[in-house]
Amino acid sequence: MSNAYAQLQNRLGEVDDLNRAGALLAWDQETYMPRGGITARADQLATLSRVAYMLFINDDTRRMIDAAATETAHLPYESDAASLVRVAHRDFEQTAKLPVEFVTEFTRLTAQARVSWAEARHQNQFALFQPDLEQIVTMVRQQADYLGYRDHPYDALLDLYEPDMRAAQVRTLFTELRTGLHPLVELVKANPHAVDDSLLHLDYDPATQLKLSEQILRTIGFDFACGRQDLAIHPFCTAFGPSDVRLTTRVAANELQQGLYGSLHEMGHGLYEQGFPATLARTSLANGASLGFHESQSRMWENLVGRSRDFVHYFFPLIRDTFPAQLAHANEEAFFRAVNRAKPSFIRVEADELTYNLHILLRFELELWLVDGTLKVADLPAAWSEQMQALLGVTPPTHAQGVLQDVHWSGGMIGYFPTYTLGNVIAAQLFNRAKLDIPDLESQFAVGQFGGLLGWMRTNLHVHGRKFTPVELLQRITGGGLDAKPYLTYLRDKCNALYA
Ligand code: ZN
Repeated sequence: MSNAYAQLQNRLGEVDDLNRAGALLAWDQETYMPRGGITARADQLATLSRVAYMLFINDDTRRMIDAAATETAHLPYESDAASLVRVAHRDFEQTAKLPVEFVTEFTRLTAQARVSWAEARHQNQFALFQPDLEQIVTMVRQQADYLGYRDHPYDALLDLYEPDMRAAQVRTLFTELRTGLHPLVELVKANPHAVDDSLLHLDYDPATQLKLSEQILRTIGFDFACGRQDLAIHPFCTAFGPSDVRLTTRVAANELQQGLYGSLHEMGHGLYEQGFPATLARTSLANGASLGFHESQSRMWENLVGRSRDFVHYFFPLIRDTFPAQLAHANEEAFFRAVNRAKPSFIRVEADELTYNLHILLRFELELWLVDGTLKVADLPAAWSEQMQALLGVTPPTHAQGVLQDVHWSGGMIGYFPTYTLGNVIAAQLFNRAKLDIPDLESQFAVGQFGGLLGWMRTNLHVHGRKFTPVELLQRITGGGLDAKPYLTYLRDKCNALYA
């Protein structure tokens, strides 16, 4: 590859180095940093992101992108070089639309809001967070105007997390999901004692839980030579390249499934990161295609695989051998039922597979109203309770268990929530497609073989990194667009098996 492209590649590589170094500092902040380190760390992170921004957004980089675009114009669309130039062009245009002063002010506001949100949640007083959230809503409206949109300002915000996705498409998807989920949620509510999950809430030694999850992750195919798992209060996955992927999890003595399924979830993100080809390392292409696609991988391993009968069949003996006293009288069937228990509840992150999407629908609707001005921030808590009652039939007793439970809005992340449900939907579509190619896919799980599914994901999804837009990628892999049917069918089958 000749001059202009090599120059651009070098520039983007340096930007990537700075961003990944920032990610390492952020990982450390959530895992090992002592509390006293926070002020110094905030300065270090702010400097790194400012330097990365300045190195990327300038006339020099713009010229490199243009020259490299000319030089690579003859290359196939899916080639590494053409893709890197295309994606760099898009990233540049998107980032350059926001004035530096706006970005600085938004960063300052969200840092402050993170503190007021935590305090409001702690004291259960929405009013402590309200002024900051009002400013955040004003600023994301401004952000949408800077970024530009055709139909609804929400489109511009959604696009930051799920490129090319429109609010109208998400609304259509949710309408279909809501209709499909309604009778299932009613069925669960009518049979509240059909599933007993008390065996998950006995006393399980946390350190032993951690060892167990590592053993399970290793069996599935997470490469611990190129990754590790540590503890964090709010679990996440981050990567400093495909060869260094960090998972975090949390374990509590009386919550066996929180640790195990939290680990499987983050491992799904991690397997995606480990699957990007070495040729894409040190570029922005060594990333997921979108948050929805990233979540499709975590949800797939956590739920479609981890909560399947075949998975439980294979791993239950190991789990029982690890905790012989607690599980002496339990069997595979009881464990399978327990980890699949559904129950309408207040907290999104603790919600079961079935009701989870209703928590997302609630946030999506409220965000739409906040952004288009039909809902005032002051009226948000009341709207939250009303919608919770309408969708799930429960009313949170406190703001901390309601409107203040998620960190996203304090971080200015409005438009992010729908990607969780998109992930669920895409996961089922990909899994169905894999089953067509590998007819005995699920019976492979029953004998502890997960390489069939992982290999399929590697070849069909991971290998592309961020080369394609989510729409292009879904079309390439499934031959069609977003489709809620496979996901609804999956939920209906499981729900009927457990509750009908
Ligand atoms: Zn996730």
